[in-house]
Amino acid sequence: ELFGKQQHMGIISTAGAKVPLGLKRTALRVVVTGGAGFVGSHLVDKLIARGDSVIVVDNFFTGRKENVMHHFGNPRFELIRHDVVEPLLLEVDQIYHLACPASPVHYKFNPVKTIKTNVVGTLNMLGLAKRVGARFLLTSTSEVYGDPLQHPQKEEYWGNVNPIGVRSCYDEGKRTAETLAMDYHRGDSVNVRIARIFNTYGPRMCIDDGRVVSNFVAQALRKEPLTVYGDGKQTRSFQYVADLVDGLMRLMEGEHVGPFNLGNPGEFTMLELAEVVKEVIDPAAKIEFHENTADDPHKRKPDITKAKDLLGWEPKVSLREGLPHMVSDFRNRIFGDQKEESS
Ligand code: NAD
Ligand code: UDP
Ligand code: UDP
Repeated sequence: ELFGKQQHMGIISTAGAKVPLGLKRTALRVVVTGGAGFVGSHLVDKLIARGDSVIVVDNFFTGRKENVMHHFGNPRFELIRHDVVEPLLLEVDQIYHLACPASPVHYKFNPVKTIKTNVVGTLNMLGLAKRVGARFLLTSTSEVYGDPLQHPQKEEYWGNVNPIGVRSCYDEGKRTAETLAMDYHRGDSVNVRIARIFNTYGPRMCIDDGRVVSNFVAQALRKEPLTVYGDGKQTRSFQYVADLVDGLMRLMEGEHVGPFNLGNPGEFTMLELAEVVKEVIDPAAKIEFHENTADDPHKRKPDITKAKDLLGWEPKVSLREGLPHMVSDFRNRIFGDQKEESS
């Protein structure tokens, strides 16, 4: 276990504080941009649990205070309402840069803002990393492969991306963010890490973010038909959020820049996904076909050989194991029980 040793120590060294005997690694000051969002909030839980001091930077576009509220009152936790498109001065050791809407519905809502977040926001966080000598991790995306002509996708593949389409603000924004990270790395010796994340699901996803897993789960719970776009034969690979967080932390702590694919290689058509959701929630749920969105990638499945070999990482949670955690969280939120389910 990578971080298990410190999990029960409970005591932290921020600058100048005493480090208890037996603590192998000095606790760090970590910034998580987008830390009030779905993935970010799970990452924050792990960082706090291993003893780090965490500063969440979030503009609450898609994030929610509720996702991190359980850390309020912890002196090692700080929440800053801030838009990464504006410069930011902090003194930290590591920056996990997640700030960016991830669901197509959200990132298409204001495409220019999405580009600014990816380009100017990433530039600012790299400038911060350079100034204070912090290690910087970018959460890029499988969407850099576009509608891929290679299957499964390896990190060497340069992708098949439409530069002028409705998804381009996100795809091309993330591609530019990767370029910026590599240029700061080469030119300014900033210590960077790049993760290319594949579709991820779990508790705390926005209920109405339009992504397929959240849609199907919410629809099945509300006794509405599951909306399959197109013929439902397009494929995706679905990763449980705890696996992703483990991969992100290994990448940050390891010695390899990447990029690394982080995803679950299990591949499902949307019709197969609908069947799994029915099995878990309501076998009687109906399926309804809708027109597909523009530029929808036909296939997506990560080749994770590189992460296995160099990070010793692979996902552990199957769709059938992970889905029930998300279902109970959605059930609580949709039907008003305030209790939060964590991963
Ligand atoms: P999310 O929308 O839940 O979280 C994004 C967070 O960033 C939110 O809290 C939002 O308020 C914040 N944010 C957005 N713009 C900001 C800005 N300009 N300044 C400050 N904060 C801002 O999404 P998520 O699923 O948690 O995704 C996190 C990261 O992982 C994103 O960078 C996303 O591109 C990447 N990613 C996610 C997936 C996935 O399937 N979830 C797949 C590929 C990549
Ligand atoms: N920046 C920031 N916080 C810092 C240092 C820099 O937000 O602690 C921003 C800065 O405002 C600039 C960007 O990061 O817009 C890039 O900084 P860099 O020093 O690389 O470039 P320069 O400021 O010389 O353009
Ligand atoms: N999709 C679907 N029904 C929905 C939402 C999405 O069939 O209610 C499809 C969508 O067309 C795409 C796949 O599911 O082919 C994954 O979409 P999502 O928006 O979750 O993620 P991304 O396109 O970014 O992989």
